[in-house]
Amino acid sequence: MFDETTVDNPRVVLDVRILAAARARIDPTGHAHWRPGELRNRLVVFGSTGDLTPVTRENLNAAIRRLTAAKILLRGSSGQCLVYDPWAVQTGMRNGVWPPCPRKREDR
Ligand SMILES: [Zn+2]
Repeated sequence: MFDETTVDNPRVVLDVRILAAARARIDPTGHAHWRPGELRNRLVVFGSTGDLTPVTRENLNAAIRRLTAAKILLRGSSGQCLVYDPWAVQTGMRNGVWPPCPRKREDR
């Protein structure tokens, strides 16, 4: 619930909201899946006029790139599939490797 609320909160910086989105739906394989466009529409931000508007695709992708560069999310994460680097979350996994995405590439 905290994570879901954080995703929707335009006063929280985007990177933190994306980490909340990754945690809100994390499944036993470490993946958090969102339908195409779903996450972007949840990540409303204040536009230049002060109105709330979905984050641009560019800003969403830039934030995901920052989080992968910081090694918090795994490379290959996208708005449809967010995956924490295994060290970033407590899991029962011993080898530190998530299984591959169960979704086919073209579904993303
Ligand atoms: Zn996935």
